[in-house]
Amino acid sequence: MSSSNSLSVAVLPGDGIGAEVMGPCLEVIDAVTSRVGDISLSFKEVPAGAACYRDHGEALPKETLEEVRNADAILLAAMGMPDIRYPDGTEIAPQLDIRFELDLYAGVRPVRSIPGVPGPLSDPRAQALDFVLIRESTEGLFASHGKGTIEDNRIARDTMEITREVSEKLFDFSFNLARKRKAAGHEGRLTCVDKANVFTSFAFFRSIFDERAAENNDLIADYAYVDAMALNLVRNPWVYDVAVTENMFGDILSDLGAALIGGMGMAPSADVGDEHAVFQPCHGSAPDIVGSGKANPTAMFLSAGMMLEWLADKHDRPAYGKAGALLTAAVDKAFAAGNLLPFELGGESGTTDVTNAVIAAVDQVC
Ligand code: ATP
Ligand code: MG
Repeated sequence: MSSSNSLSVAVLPGDGIGAEVMGPCLEVIDAVTSRVGDISLSFKEVPAGAACYRDHGEALPKETLEEVRNADAILLAAMGMPDIRYPDGTEIAPQLDIRFELDLYAGVRPVRSIPGVPGPLSDPRAQALDFVLIRESTEGLFASHGKGTIEDNRIARDTMEITREVSEKLFDFSFNLARKRKAAGHEGRLTCVDKANVFTSFAFFRSIFDERAAENNDLIADYAYVDAMALNLVRNPWVYDVAVTENMFGDILSDLGAALIGGMGMAPSADVGDEHAVFQPCHGSAPDIVGSGKANPTAMFLSAGMMLEWLADKHDRPAYGKAGALLTAAVDKAFAAGNLLPFELGGESGTTDVTNAVIAAVDQVC
């Protein structure tokens, strides 16, 4: 990591629409940071992903992992292509390997409506959602990634793994986020989403949640079974503040969360550990729209906003936080006018239209 004043960012455009949203994102970051001043970021692009595997035999080359480890932050777009796979048939997903390698246990997925972006629910309260899903990102059912077995072509098995160590860190992170949000006017509530009524692993997960809740009694702690949570996220999603869950459940619920705010192209994320963090849109490489100019870059932009705010906190550099807030405000401003509607929402605003509107809005919010 850099010891000088400059902070380094490893840039991984990856596959499919990854490069199509990453280029515009770097332009938006530049537009914002050059107006704020007192910011010095260096970007280094490194290869990883399915095309990298096809061309070089490695999805996550050693040099890339080294760069990623040494960077102050990692900005990643999308990885994997359905037609390029490992010999066992699984998809190339080095973003998962990075989460495991760097212990990025907390997958932060904000579900925040942007005024001017229509959601699927008609209740007016669903147009003003603002909650956060935290998906554990290094274990759970995904701990089985690459280790599943098939016996005699008869029985397939994957393993679910929940550890005390990671769960404690995950809940502490989640309570701290709830506390930070409480200071900003939110309820200060953390909901543990599990299936503790059926599985030993989830009963263990919940018991650790209870221990941490007792130590964070300035905050409200409650639970939801994952099936009920899926229902509630459609019926009354506005009641949530922060919800924390296991890897696989979080994978599924965060797509539901993305749908609530307009689609995969609207949903940013951060995968955070004690030392490192990756910022990446929730969406994948979307091979069906590659090259069409239809990719919505908004999630990528908002992920970069999260990166700037995380860097500000970690390095105690308020200018970066100001830039992150401005970036988010510029996205909001661009959509507030109401004439921007990405293709995935049934409109005709392509990658370039959204990018230009956000860059134009940067001037208005500065
Ligand atoms: P992954 O396995 O990485 O989660 P996935 O197979 O779930 O990927 P995604 O690529 O995330 O699929 O997206 C599913 C579909 O949503 C895409 O095929 C595409 O049509 C649409 N989509 C995803 N991201 C965007 C975007 N940024 N802009 C427009 N449409 C998108
Ligand atoms: Mg997906």
